[in-house]
Amino acid sequence: MELNRRDFLRGAGAATAVVATGAGAAAMSGEALAKEASKDGASAAGKAASAGSSDVMTADKAAEATWSFMVPPDPVPESQIKETYTHDIVVVGAGMAGLCTAVSAAEKGADVIVFSASTMPISRGGSNHAIGSKYQKAKGIEYDPELARKIVKAEQTAGTYFMDKKKWERWINHSAESIDWTIDLMEKKGLKCSLEPGFPDPDGIIEIPPASHNFYNDEQPFGALFGAPLEAQAYADTFTDDLGGHIDYSTKALYLIRDDDNTGRVSAVVAQNADGDYVKYVANKAIVLATGDFSKDRDMMARYCPLAYKNFKDYITWDNINYDVELAYDGLMPGDGQKMGLWVGAAWQKTDPCAAMINGGAVGPAHGVISNFWGINLDIHGQRYMNEVTNFAYGAMAKMMLPEQTAFAVWDVNYAYTQDEWDQFGCCVDNENGIMPLSPDELIAGWDKNAEAGKSDGIGSSTQYWKADTLEDLVAQMEGIDKDAALESIKRYNEYAKNGLDEEFHVNPDVLYPIDTPPFYATKSVGATFLTVCGGLRTDDKMRVCDEDDQPIEGLYNTGIMTGDFYANSYNFVMPGQNLGAVCGTLSYLLGRDLAEL
Ligand SMILES: Cc1cc2nc3c(=O)[nH]c(=O)nc-3n(C[C@H](O)[C@H](O)[C@H](O)COP(=O)(O)OP(=O)(O)OC[C@H]3O[C@@H](n4cnc5c(N)ncnc54)[C@H](O)[C@@H]3O)c2cc1C
Repeated sequence: MELNRRDFLRGAGAATAVVATGAGAAAMSGEALAKEASKDGASAAGKAASAGSSDVMTADKAAEATWSFMVPPDPVPESQIKETYTHDIVVVGAGMAGLCTAVSAAEKGADVIVFSASTMPISRGGSNHAIGSKYQKAKGIEYDPELARKIVKAEQTAGTYFMDKKKWERWINHSAESIDWTIDLMEKKGLKCSLEPGFPDPDGIIEIPPASHNFYNDEQPFGALFGAPLEAQAYADTFTDDLGGHIDYSTKALYLIRDDDNTGRVSAVVAQNADGDYVKYVANKAIVLATGDFSKDRDMMARYCPLAYKNFKDYITWDNINYDVELAYDGLMPGDGQKMGLWVGAAWQKTDPCAAMINGGAVGPAHGVISNFWGINLDIHGQRYMNEVTNFAYGAMAKMMLPEQTAFAVWDVNYAYTQDEWDQFGCCVDNENGIMPLSPDELIAGWDKNAEAGKSDGIGSSTQYWKADTLEDLVAQMEGIDKDAALESIKRYNEYAKNGLDEEFHVNPDVLYPIDTPPFYATKSVGATFLTVCGGLRTDDKMRVCDEDDQPIEGLYNTGIMTGDFYANSYNFVMPGQNLGAVCGTLSYLLGRDLAEL
């Protein structure tokens, strides 16, 4: 499908055009149509006969459809533009990516302005994956591009090679340089660095050393979840206080101006400020879009991330756009940058659909903080459904395929003693930030508290929690499971553990533990947790936004989570913190350096 602006306008104006919306018939998937058809009791012959009628989707109609987000707004009359600001580089968005780019460019002497729809610097989470930082070296953690070869190959295989390997190569080879630069900047602003635990896959496939760096201070030691806003603030302070830069907040970009009737250089961006005035930012050299994801645009989600749309459309709060959004699980940004790019002829990324960031597998004690529960996982039929030893993103994908998306987990008190200490979320290597691992007894105390409350206090999916002195009593409490089948499955599992051979799913015998010592514990968790969606405009390895012919559009760049083709299939947390570390960190740092050279 051609995605240039002329075609959008033509499409929008044409009498036969179908304007597709996520809620409308034009957006229906084959599956949805099949359901609709079977609801009506339509016969195969009837369906075939109606295929030519106007309310039935066909491949040709889908190709012709103009989605709502492809239609540009009417331009603001020149007379209504109150102010025009001219700089070499205009960065749109004061999230981690935009701010990192701005600091990197300004530090090298570039003339940069940032404006943002948010009222302040914003970000969320805090884990920045990096390969071979000075901090890792100081802790004796061996990880460099050579040592990362295996995990990178595993990751690119997981993405079925649909991602842009050149952008990955730039990230991997410049990761140490950029995170060391970030560590220095953060330390100057009083933040300390810490390193989150790695993931200990006993099969070695998705094993990762401690590589997620986060930043924290004494008031907020929980850098893994709350460090990113501190980091974004520190970048903003560096930009304004140390480098003389300026940030206009509460100013929302509306559309880009591309010269020569939308065929030349992208030279300006029109925005609306907090007073409602229209303003124009003219860029002598570059406009950098860093406006975040598109998870709050229903139609974009239906078109570009149907898996997440289908599963989370009732949880995302579509009409509640908040440009200051930080830690949230109901959607983030409305995709303004992606839309603005499309309107000036940018192509969408090649990988379709976009990768969603989803986590939350079966809930139980976690070997490795971001883990699926490695003991027995059961579905509502009381059956095991996979080799349980994986992380919480892959665990979530498996759970989303289950009937009623419901997973049960069962373990015994001895499980607490399968390791000496248990990292909890927020822990870091050497526990510099004071968030300590739990001893087995502390862990058990937490289980007991949850069982008493009947639920765990985890984020996202709802989790019921039970405890009993016999397996029969435990299973009797487990609402919604086939109890006889569950007891049979547990019995079989115990045989496998005794024999050191899992004849069903071949869990590594090193982590195959019997469930035979009371008290026993169980959870039931439903659904998974949506965080964000990655990707957007077609982007080359220099972060230039490209058209349908892969040609860079002069003057237009993008970075951060909206970067096209960095992820494929799913954001799987195997290299945790890759979003902040790679696209918001290293690639934004390199972009800033490149722009300063222009
Ligand atoms: C709960 C949660 C936790 C997460 N934790 C992590 C983590 O630990 N590690 C990790 O790697 N990733 C994490 N992520 C993913 C994270 O969201 C991204 O990695 C990252 O924050 C995206 O940064 P960004 O700068 O690209 O976009 P954003 O942080 O969304 O910033 C976009 C900026 O652009 C502004 N903007 C938007 N539209 C306009 C407009 N029209 N005009 C002007 N300005 C505009 C916004 O106001 C904002 O300032 C997490 C996500 C969630 C939901």
